[in-house]
Amino acid sequence: MKLKIALVGNPNSGKTTLFNSLTGNNQHIGNWPGVTVEKKEGLVRNNKDITIIDLPGIYSLSPYSLEEVISRDYIFNEKPDVIINIIDGSNLERNLYLTLQLIETGVPVVLAINMMDVIAKNKDVIKSESIAKLLNCPVVEITALKSVGLEELITKSTDLVTKGYKYRPVVWYKEKIENIVSTISEKIKRKVEPEKLRWYSLKIFEKDEKVLEDVKLDPKDKEEIFSLINLYEQEMDDDSESILTTERYNYINRFIEKVYFKNKIKAQSMTHKIDKVLTNKYLALPIFVLIIFLVYYLSISTIGGLLTDYVNDTIFGDNGLPGLVTGWLESINAWPWLIGVIVEGIIGGVGAVLGFLPQMFVLFLLLGILEESGYMARIAFILDRIFRRFGLSGKAFFPMLMSTGCAVPGVMAARTIEEESNRKVMIMTTTFMPCGAKLPIIALIAGALFRGSPIQWLIAPSAYLLGILMIIISSIILKKFKGFAGKASPFIMELPDYHLPSIKGLGFTVYHKLKSFVKKAGTIILVAAIIIWFLSNFSWSFALTSNAEESILASIGKLIDVIFTPLGWGNWKAAVATFTGLVAKENVVSTFGVLYGFAEVGESGAEIWTLLAVDFTALSSYSFLVFNLICAPCFAAMGTIKREMGSRKWTLIAITYQTVLAYVLSLIIYQIGMMFTGVFNIGSVFGILALIVLIYLIFRPNKYLKKIEPKSL
Ligand code: GDP
Ligand code: MG
Repeated sequence: MKLKIALVGNPNSGKTTLFNSLTGNNQHIGNWPGVTVEKKEGLVRNNKDITIIDLPGIYSLSPYSLEEVISRDYIFNEKPDVIINIIDGSNLERNLYLTLQLIETGVPVVLAINMMDVIAKNKDVIKSESIAKLLNCPVVEITALKSVGLEELITKSTDLVTKGYKYRPVVWYKEKIENIVSTISEKIKRKVEPEKLRWYSLKIFEKDEKVLEDVKLDPKDKEEIFSLINLYEQEMDDDSESILTTERYNYINRFIEKVYFKNKIKAQSMTHKIDKVLTNKYLALPIFVLIIFLVYYLSISTIGGLLTDYVNDTIFGDNGLPGLVTGWLESINAWPWLIGVIVEGIIGGVGAVLGFLPQMFVLFLLLGILEESGYMARIAFILDRIFRRFGLSGKAFFPMLMSTGCAVPGVMAARTIEEESNRKVMIMTTTFMPCGAKLPIIALIAGALFRGSPIQWLIAPSAYLLGILMIIISSIILKKFKGFAGKASPFIMELPDYHLPSIKGLGFTVYHKLKSFVKKAGTIILVAAIIIWFLSNFSWSFALTSNAEESILASIGKLIDVIFTPLGWGNWKAAVATFTGLVAKENVVSTFGVLYGFAEVGESGAEIWTLLAVDFTALSSYSFLVFNLICAPCFAAMGTIKREMGSRKWTLIAITYQTVLAYVLSLIIYQIGMMFTGVFNIGSVFGILALIVLIYLIFRPNKYLKKIEPKSL
């Protein structure tokens, strides 16, 4: 008897290992038609009647990723006789989610629990017989790596076909769901095979677009069914697909307790207790905001700030480095321009950036602790509920998390998002998060221009929260345009237990982040600072000038600075700093350092804030900060965006969007802010108009959403 067996499982469950052990050299490797996903077929070593197909690794049977679509099409069109579902025994919870869906397809399933060697080593216990009873399918324990259990696996698979298989639903959902599902079943029972009826009904309940296309509901039935589902969604305040996802997980949680006994019980119950508070439906978000406030407050305003002050006072203060170096250079009769380059350019510019190293150290340390302890993974879950409403999934949080270090890996991390549309949104917006290089800008503005202000402590945390907010708002705005429309796939992830971060791991991360920062200071930033010094100390007649206003740089800056006048900082120094920020964001601060003469701090009572206050008010400095946080990122990040988008057009769209959004936001902040101080002029009108346009873009109806919810039929 010829048999066709499909091998299905999560990525890394050991599929390829099992496939190779089963088939040996009898393999045929090709591609699935039209795509670059690998297709492997093979004959079982000692039973050439059995063909095995290695389907791509997947987490669920929703139609969001290419791999899922391929696997689903195969199961439904090629009709394998049996599915071998290989699961990682040490990761039951996540793996079983797919299992439940596979069983629902009505195709006979044999469950192969892999990695039994790991289970045995950990002294964990899996009750396979109970699993077999509960799931109504044969279960075989295997160790694919050592070819253990493979014969039994093949025997049980063939038995399933020869002895016959009777489908029985495993998960019964809430009564209200089952009622809707039976209404659906009633309407489609003549259109599909009986053993697949439940699968199709459940998928229609999930509003699965592919199934809706296949089944071709009668328009009247469709309207009736959708109004039932919509009503239930409103009642539950969630979309139907997520509701089923939650139900399946609830089932798995109850199920696991009966069949899986983990050896390390202590860590788990501790985690459970902490999670009760930290991931509580109502408390989770306020706690997250509070933690972020604390992190930025501690690193920028208190601990980190104190350290930075200490560094700045001792190294760059009255008797500090600038004075010492100037004295020494003068004593050896160095040329005045060389003294200028070294003291004002290098020490004043690069020093201004390096002075923030202690704050950066504290920030990276605290963020590292949050990440290593397992807290950040939970935030992805908490944000998933919010993100989902706007068509993004909690997965989007990981690129954001990476971007708080550097936007380059952040943009690359967007790869983990399956849907093309959502990946694009994240590539375009993840750079809004304040990366390490933006930290000096934030700290400088919070420290110098909000000095003594009652809201000083708010400035730094607001940068982080503004980043998240702008990503959410952008997602709302963008997803109403054609190129970005689409839903997010359910977010599935096993949460790690909480544990104390290891000093070694933390030290490693922080060290590497700081190292690359220092390296940049010694290269790009150093060169930029020197160039800025020359351009701001020489006039067009190439003579050294002590009046920066007559310099080459000033005349260039003055050509462009009017662009920023409506934002409140139309001065040439700020304009130049913003442009040098495109090379590396640290340059914003180092350019300020050179142009405002930070090296002179201490002499004649000058302080950084008095130097900057000539050109900035608190309000205009905040507008400046927001612009520099949101606008086009540095060249390295732009290059990454281009690589990840794989298209010049989309890169251009991304950079334009970022810069326009930054401009509009800063305009609104500055102009509306000025209105509160009693100023009303033509700028205010533009500010209000910009606000109206922004609000319109956020709240206008989404016509692409309607297509999925045919209420309007
Ligand atoms: P796939 O992504 O599902 O194709 O998974 P692979 O076959 O590539 O396996 C993922 C990893 O798990 C590899 O490092 C394998 O060596 C390992 N692996 C597979 N089966 C077993 C097993 O039974 N025991 C152990 N300890 N490791 C295994
Ligand atoms: Mg593989």
